[in-house]
Formats: sequence, structure tokens, C-alpha cells
Amino acid sequence: MPRYTLIIAVFLAAAFQLNAQSGKQMNTFIDKLMSQMTLEEKIGQLNLPVSNTFVAGEVKAGEMSPMDQRIAKGEIGGLFGMKGASLIRAKQKVAVEKSRLHIPLLFGLDVIHGYETTFPIPLALSTSWDTDLIEQVTRIAAAEASSDGINWVFSPMVDICRDARWGRIAEGSGEDPYLGGEIAKTLVRGYQGKSNDYAVEGTVMACVKHYAVYGGAEAGRDYNTVDISRQGIMNGYMAPYLEACKQGAGSYMASFNEFEAIPATANKYLLDEVLRKQWGFKGFVVSDYTGISEMVDHGIGDLQTVSARALEAGIDMDMVSEGFMTTLKKSLKDGKITRKQIDQACRRILEAKYKLGLFSDPYKFCREEKAAKELFSERNRMLSRQAAGESQVLLKNDKNLLPLTKKGKIAVIGPLGDAASDMVGCWALTGKASQSVSLYQGLKTAMGNNGSVVYARGSDLVADSLLEVKLNGMMGFVIPGMKPIRVHDRNPVELLREALETAQDADVIVAALGENANMNGEGASRSNPVIPEPQQELLRSLLTLGKPVVLVLFTGRPLILSREEKQVPAILNAWFPGSEAGSAIADILFGEVNPSGKLTTTFPRNVGQIPLYYNHKNTGRPHGEFENYARFKSNYIDVINAPLYPFGYGLSYTTFKYGEITLSATEMPLNGKVTASVTVTNTGQREGKEVVQLYIRDVFSTSTRPVKELKGFQKIFLKAGESREVTFRLTAEDLKYYNHDLAYVCEPGDFALMIGPDSREVKKAKLTVK
Ligand code: BGC
Repeated sequence: MPRYTLIIAVFLAAAFQLNAQSGKQMNTFIDKLMSQMTLEEKIGQLNLPVSNTFVAGEVKAGEMSPMDQRIAKGEIGGLFGMKGASLIRAKQKVAVEKSRLHIPLLFGLDVIHGYETTFPIPLALSTSWDTDLIEQVTRIAAAEASSDGINWVFSPMVDICRDARWGRIAEGSGEDPYLGGEIAKTLVRGYQGKSNDYAVEGTVMACVKHYAVYGGAEAGRDYNTVDISRQGIMNGYMAPYLEACKQGAGSYMASFNEFEAIPATANKYLLDEVLRKQWGFKGFVVSDYTGISEMVDHGIGDLQTVSARALEAGIDMDMVSEGFMTTLKKSLKDGKITRKQIDQACRRILEAKYKLGLFSDPYKFCREEKAAKELFSERNRMLSRQAAGESQVLLKNDKNLLPLTKKGKIAVIGPLGDAASDMVGCWALTGKASQSVSLYQGLKTAMGNNGSVVYARGSDLVADSLLEVKLNGMMGFVIPGMKPIRVHDRNPVELLREALETAQDADVIVAALGENANMNGEGASRSNPVIPEPQQELLRSLLTLGKPVVLVLFTGRPLILSREEKQVPAILNAWFPGSEAGSAIADILFGEVNPSGKLTTTFPRNVGQIPLYYNHKNTGRPHGEFENYARFKSNYIDVINAPLYPFGYGLSYTTFKYGEITLSATEMPLNGKVTASVTVTNTGQREGKEVVQLYIRDVFSTSTRPVKELKGFQKIFLKAGESREVTFRLTAEDLKYYNHDLAYVCEPGDFALMIGPDSREVKKAKLTVK
């Protein structure tokens, strides 16, 4: 055995022994603790209420709040929705000092794309295709949150979605299961660290959500029914949940939707059969917010019945429903559940607390001094700016209108042009939204004394004034103390006139249009995801001025941009870039950063094409993407099949040329491997990054397979004129899929291999598996 192999073997054996030893220690500790616990205390561990201290402190000096009394009675296993190490420390103190067995609490929070420092929304981060960067970003989110009291994050959200209407598409990594899987494991590693050892400072426990197939909601309407086959979910949706499990995610959150007519929260197939038995998941599963009590509305029983069904299926912790708390004892008495089931769930929660080190130091995550240095620090914000630079997608750039030069006069026009608070996007409740850099601010700073930047709002966000008021509150709620945002406060004609006057003598118009932060995310599905009408009208008027117009788009979903694509010479999709939005957009507009983001969702031409995704099936009557209408083929009378922008698409300020694919062999035995290579050349004038994408197609198989499936990608950097050979290694493992019997197989035969800059423009080669 070579020396280094021996060293690794000895190291692994020692680590295994250490793990086994610490596992034994943990079991002994928990056995002892549980032997002292009453049934009520065990059920209390399964209870996760939301804290009502997020907005305003509830504790009066010298008095125990109702929540504190419950903590002291052992009725609560964890709390979520609190911010601030000192507030959390106070609650932990009640648990540790006032409860009979001194069991510490879990403190959970939705840390979705940053904590105080806000990074681009997850959908935007995915368009960077840069897993190293995504891991770095996640580590910072974990470092900030874990210094401020949080030990458990309700993240990553790994739901695959093929529907632009679904508001929560913003929170995930797009439509592709392979890319989603790569990002899911990256995010778990970012939160939990490489070794999943939460004793390491700066790590937190992850919670993978929403298990499962929440993104498959019919018609893109939030919380709606999912009706996809087992084979369909295994091939199209489950990879990210599985990869997160393999990476060692500590917890999962069940989704609101049903699967096979059983809500996920009571779905034994999903929770027990797949997650625990097939994948070997050892952590705990929490319901989503009132996910248990909502099963009454799903129509599968009263609160007692649905709570018992949830526990039986594999839910260990009840978020907000209080169904476990109020009914499990009775269900036990009625013989509907067993003591063993309660014990098992309780043990899993206690194990998580043990692994987090809370029994040795319950205040381990309350590091006020570190928080003071870490939160929203200059260093963290600079990383946010970098991430935003990598995540924007240049959709159109006629005659190289971009980058702009730093001179003359730029008019920033549009309701999102100076909207600092909107720049963080959805699910950024702890982000310092109002301290974000708006586009106008960012451009002004970047321009300095070289020229001038002016601004006008130009239009309302949406036509409906009542809706606009809601969209400008906190997710539609009014938070005490929050300054009401004035909307529809001016005459639209006057707004437009002012904008046209402002833009009149500008050299370039930057139109800042799209959605605001609340138009996407949870509960924000849209039946027609376009730029809202008042903003479209503004754009049309701006175009009549005959000046170059750059559309900077803010959105949390793929928008339908068919009109804009025809009318506007340059379109930059900024998504919601986070705390440093304006600076990062200015970096791209002025060419300090060369755009390299590529779409991870298909952009449809019209709403009727939805759901539209690149990895669709061929059908028995296929029709070419750009072919004219043909009767009795799979197409539409009124629109071509091609999307407006395909999956994987994004432009750069330079150009890349792809050579033909070279295979190391054209045949591969089932236990063999091949390499597929292409030479990519930067044929433009400036350095740039390119995402080289590998797709396959299983030409004949026992079940139908997609016309293309992503199987690899590499983000490379090339200087002007530089060439690089990019190589992908493939084995039968990469060619496997779940067949009709749900067996994961590679079926011998022909495969098309495709490599290119996006899912449309690909070079092809044939590989035969024998
Ligand atoms: C969402 C979850 C979130 C939870 C707690 C729910 O409404 O679906 O994603 O983690 O609330 O805030």
C-alpha cells in the first residue's frame, strides 16, 4: 500500500473510531436524559412555535411572558423568528435555568440568501454557476447568523421549478435537477462545514426544504396540488433533496403540497420509504408553518388525526400547529400512535441539540462581540458585490451598446431605479434592506465627476393602487413602526412627463423596471409574469425619445420579455442583487466586470407556453423549436415552440468559439469511462468567463427520456485570444435514470453528447454504451 494511502486509511479508521465513540457518548447521554423525561416533556421537545418577539419585545422587566412560562414548563423544543444574540440568550436562559431538565432550545430562522449582509436571491446565485462562490457566500451567511444566536437555518430551499408563475422560483436554483443537486450539496457544506461538525465555530445546522416537490405546484399557484408520477419526481425533482442528504444535512422540512393524494406532511412514502429507508437520512424532519393543521383543510381528518398521521409518517417536530402538543397524548391513549414513535422523534431532536453542542454550552451561538464585528461588515458586503457581479445575466446587447463609458449624462428612469429596500429581494427579513445600494446611487458613485447621473420614477409599480400598497408592506403585512411607503401618490401623467423631461438631454437611458421585492417569493404567484403595464407604458414612451435605452431588469422569476426583446437594444437581468446591488450593477454597466451569468430557468415567449423547460420529452410528434406551424405536430398555432431565452443562456462582452467534441472513445463498456473534450477560444477583445455546459440524450431507452439533460459544467476564465481544452469525464453513473420500476439504471445503447454555451447552441458527438 503506498504510504499516503496508509496514512489516509489510519486517519479514516481513527475518525471512524472517534465518531463511533462520540456516537456512543451521545446515546448514553440521551438515554439518561430521556429516562428522566415525562411524556409531556418529550412531546414538548417536538413543539416549535414562532416567536412573537421578532417585531417588538414581549418581555416586561421582572415578569415572565406567556412564552417564557411555556419554555419553563418544557412545552417548547425550539423557537424561530427571533433576531439578536441578547434576545436569544435571554430565551435560552429561561430554558436552561427555569425548566426542570434544563434542556436548551433550538433557534431557527429563515436565512435564505444571507443574514444581515444580503446576497443575490438564490435563483440569481444559481445563474453564477459558480459553486465555490456559492459556498463562500453561504459560509458568510452561516458565520453572521451563528454569531447572532441562530443555530438552525431554514435553508437550503432546493425545490426544482419549471413554472415562471410560481413566486417561490426565486428561492431555488431553477429548473434543472443536476445543477440543483450540485448547488444543494454546496449550500449544505456552506452552512454545516465540510465535516458536518457543528462544534466548528461559524457553522449552523441546515434544514433542506421543502420536501418534496413543492415546486411542482399545478399552474404555478402557491401551495397548490402536485400530481406527478413517482418516476417523474425521481428523474425531475428529487436529485437536490438526495444530494443534500448525501452531504449530511441535519434536518428536512416537509412541504405544504400533496403527493399522490397524501399531503407531504403525512406522506409515509416520501418521509419514511424514500428519505429514511432508501437514502438513510438520520436527522429530524420538521413540518412547515402550520403544515400539520393545514391537513384538516386538505381534508384528511381533524387535528388529532392529522397530527397522529404526521408523527407516524415521520414528522418529528411540529412548526406552529400545536397539533402534537394538544393531541398526541390523547392519540397515545386511544392507541393511534405508540410511545416508541414519540420517543423516536424526541430522540432525534435531542440528538440535533447534542450535535450542535448545546448541552455543553447552550449559549455557544450567542457571540455578541463577534456579531458586532461580523454582521454587515465591509468584507461581507464586498463578497455580496462580487456575487452580484457573477449572477447578473446579459440577455441582449445589440451593437455592443454595453458597456457604457463613464462620461456624459445617464438618466435612470423607473420605479426600481432608486428603490434601495427592494434590492435585497424576497426572504431577506434580517437583511438591512434600507441600507442597500440602489441603482441610482451605485451609478452616481461609479460615475464620480466624469459625468452626471439623474433620476426620475416615471411610473407606478403596478396599475392597481391597493395592490401596490400591499406589495410595499412587509410581505403584505404592516409592521408596527415601519414607515408607510407612499405609493400612487402622484398623478401618472405628471410622473411620466417628469421622466421624459429628465431623460430629454441624457446620452443614455437606463430603464429600471420589473418586479419589486414582494412581487415574488412565498404567496406571490403571478398568472401573467410580465413587466407590469404602467412600467411598459413608461418604456414605450422612453423609446420614443430616440436615445439608446438599456433595460435593467429586477425580477425573482423568468419574466416574459417578448415585447422588450423586440424594442430595447440592451437588456441586463439583475434579478435582486442584494446589499450591494447598485454598485454591482454599475460594475457591469461600466464594464469593470464582464457579465458571465447564465440562465438556470427557461424564459418563455408567452404565458401559454408555461410550463416550459429545456429538459422536456420529444413526444411522438416532435416539432422543431423554430419551425413554422404544422398541423398534427406537437406545437401551437399562435407561437413557436422555442423559448425566448433558453436554459443556460447568457451573453458576455466578449465572444467564445467552441471547437468540435473529441471523445477518448466512441464506445464505452458499462464499467468503463470516457472523456469528452472541446476547445473553447475567447475570440473577443476582453477577458471573460464562460460556463461550458455538457448535455446528454439517451437516444433509446425503455422509458422515454428528455431531449437534453445537463450532466456537467465548468466555469472557465479566458484572456482575450486565449484557448482552453475543457474536458468532462463520464461513466455509466452519469447516464443513469430511474426506469419504470424505479430502478436507477444505465441502459446500454446510443447516447448523444452535447457541449455548448447554452442548451440550444451545442456541438454533438455519439457515444455507444455496450
Ligand atoms: C415557508 C418556509 C419557512 C417557514 C418559516 C413557511 O411559510 O414555507 O419556507 O421556512 O414559513 O418561516
